[in-house]
Parts: sequence; C-alpha cells; structure tokens
Amino acid sequence: MRRNAQVQALTPRELQDFERKLLELRAALQREVGRIERDALEPSGGARFQPVDESIEETSLDAELEALATQDELGYAVNEALERLTDGRFGQCVECGRPIARERLALLPYARECRDCRAASESAG
Ligand SMILES: [Zn+2]
Repeated sequence: MRRNAQVQALTPRELQDFERKLLELRAALQREVGRIERDALEPSGGARFQPVDESIEETSLDAELEALATQDELGYAVNEALERLTDGRFGQCVECGRPIARERLALLPYARECRDCRAASESAG
C-alpha cells in the first residue's frame, strides 16, 4: 500500500509542461511591461486633454509604476522558477524543502513556497 501523505515527484512530462507555461508567462510579462512603460511615457489623454487637477495624472502614474513593480516581481519569480527547473529543484518549497502541491503549481507555476510556508510568511508580515 502506498501512502498518500507525500506528494508524488513531478514527472519529466509535467516538468516540461511547467517549463512551457513559465516561458509563455515570461513572454506575456515582457509584452505587458513594454505596454505599461509606453503608457507611462505617453499621457493617455494626449495633447488636447489638459487635466484640471494635476494629482489625477500623478495618481495614474503611481498606479502604472506600481503595476510595473508587480510585473517586475512576477518576472523575477518566473525566472527563479525556470532556474529551479534547470537544476532539478522545481516543485520543492524553498523554505521547508517539501514538495509543493500540484494544484498549487498548476495555479502558480512560479510558486517558491508551499502553502503552509506561504501562509506562515504572510501572517508574519
Ligand atoms: Zn514549505
């Protein structure tokens, strides 16, 4: 009888699928970053539109920069996941070394922590 407590190791086929997903995600992120950078450089209203309240423009720029930081972070996480794929650590929690559940990886292929460690680090701040 096989115990089910331990998550089964990912098969080469599954690893290939994750690699493809991560590469697609990275390409999509790069397109998105390019778009946000263009938007941030060119005010969306164009030359004819003069905002009455300048803080409106600043707020939207803040939002763009925030989005950019998020994309950056995500891009970093995706790159890290691809590195882990290369050196055979993909799917292992970087904190406790236990396998990350497949369902979690399916949703977040770039997840670096298992759900327990993620929850612990989130509640710690
Ligand atoms: Zn963990």
